[in-house]
Amino acid sequence: MRAHAASGRVHADVSDPGRVGVTAWGGAGQAVAPRRPDPVVDQARSVLKRTVAVRPVTLSRNRRADETGRVMTLPGALLRSLAGIVGEPHVLTGDATAGFAVDWTGRFQGHTPAVVRPRDTAEVAAVLALCTDAGLPVVPQGGNTGLVGGGVPRHGEVMLSLTRLNQLGPVDHEAAQVTAGAGVTLQQVADADPGLDLGILIASRGSATVGGAVATNAGGLRVLRFGPMRAQLRGIEAVLADGTVVSHLAGLVKDNTGYDYPSLLAGSEGTLAVITAARLRLVPRLRDTVTALAGVSGLDELHALARRAVREVPGLVSAEFFTRTGLDILVAHAGLAPPLPGPAAAYLLLEASGPGAFGDLAGVIGDREAAVAESAADRARLWSYRERHPEAAGFLGVPVKLDVSVPAAQWVRLASGAADVVTDVDPGAEVITFGHVADGNVHVNIVPAAPADGRHEDAVFSFVASLGGSISAEHGIGALKAPWLALARSDAERALFARIRSALDPTATLNPNVLPR
Ligand SMILES: Cc1cc2nc3c(=O)[nH]c(=O)nc-3n(C[C@H](O)[C@H](O)[C@H](O)COP(=O)(O)OP(=O)(O)OC[C@H]3O[C@@H](n4cnc5c(N)ncnc54)[C@H](O)[C@@H]3O)c2cc1C
Repeated sequence: MRAHAASGRVHADVSDPGRVGVTAWGGAGQAVAPRRPDPVVDQARSVLKRTVAVRPVTLSRNRRADETGRVMTLPGALLRSLAGIVGEPHVLTGDATAGFAVDWTGRFQGHTPAVVRPRDTAEVAAVLALCTDAGLPVVPQGGNTGLVGGGVPRHGEVMLSLTRLNQLGPVDHEAAQVTAGAGVTLQQVADADPGLDLGILIASRGSATVGGAVATNAGGLRVLRFGPMRAQLRGIEAVLADGTVVSHLAGLVKDNTGYDYPSLLAGSEGTLAVITAARLRLVPRLRDTVTALAGVSGLDELHALARRAVREVPGLVSAEFFTRTGLDILVAHAGLAPPLPGPAAAYLLLEASGPGAFGDLAGVIGDREAAVAESAADRARLWSYRERHPEAAGFLGVPVKLDVSVPAAQWVRLASGAADVVTDVDPGAEVITFGHVADGNVHVNIVPAAPADGRHEDAVFSFVASLGGSISAEHGIGALKAPWLALARSDAERALFARIRSALDPTATLNPNVLPR
């Protein structure tokens, strides 16, 4: 490889509207029974019994709805009950809720009568029991970095912010595991021990939480080496809609004692239970890591190189791509300098670790032009070209963000054809593609010129379905993709989903507008 030093600037973290102080989450292995005597919760429950005798739910004079039927305010007594559980400063109403009601892209906006911020599992249980009794739908929210509109109150739901459940337990060195509250950020888990790391690496890690990452089964930049968030789970603690706490945090690697509900909750998008803590495996921190960014002439060549790296580089950690379209936007708007002396049609970022990594990557890249980095700072600069791509479309407008995957044999057709199927239905649209090439995953970010009325999703998802792929590789279904789920899942599968959902949440309290019921 013709190597150049890495250049550019490190990315900024995404915003973090809900972060608040330190908390008192229960700790590893400690189940918190919701109906155990607890003065705060009991007091709230007794208030509750008096105030929440409104089933079936009707809109009383205290509970006002707008013209669409959304609940705009809650009765004062109900707000006081919530405050009795979590403390008055942690029930937000009015303008104070604004940051919780809009997503990171700005595309999904809603309204909530209240944001409730419990500090531990017992408070989560009491809040959920209260809301279920009152017939109030609830949207759980972590770092609010989700990209499919699943964590914002689009239909006037109560917001349950989990960011105060931010206690990180001590690292268990023998097991290489840690127990983290749902509100702990992925970066905090990754920083917990100098010799150990979290297998998951995503650009939003400074804000994305453990609860949100489990709920979305987050993927990211190292899935080919360590798997998605589900593969990091060694146990979970969660609260059902009626306030029942289920807890299985012992961290056993082998444990065939019935249904694996931690795995079921991974990717459940807040529809089955509220995750309050997770037991996570940690992986050895990578050493002797080399990052290379190579310019290539097209997506065929890029895919062939990535597949070769998967086969021939034993220490391969990441194989990522972006194209000149996205790079040009970041150079123009984000202050990044081009990574290579000459332009390329597409760019392949490979990272490998361990002895021989440099030689192995050089063998794959051959005499193509490449920037190579070995120090942490230089590698971060190279990664910024890939990690800032989720921001690129946002410089041009409010984006439609799609995240799809296909079998390896169809990847080139997907990556090279996605822009065309979009411009067929919206000739003025800008289309930026990037993503995780070795996972068959392409992020298709669209800045529409025509109205964002579903035509873009329709075009891309139909194309993906025709290639035998998935309409959601890693972001989930959320509100964005719910109308298209039938493209990816059969009638029988969706009927099974509905049965699971009504078994865990029969009152439709949890995220009722996410995933079709
Ligand atoms: C710049 C950027 C880069 C990204 N890169 C990636 C990537 O590479 N790979 C990837 O997979 N994702 C990526 N994402 C998407 C996002 O960061 C992940 O989906 C993340 O896991 C969401 O975590 P969160 O805490 O922000 O969850 P939120 O956005 O708050 O919520 C997401 C969903 O989980 C539910 N939820 C949240 N907390 C809980 C809980 N405690 N219990 C039950 N349900 C809950 C919500 O109701 C919602 O449906 C990226 C986002 C951004 C902004």
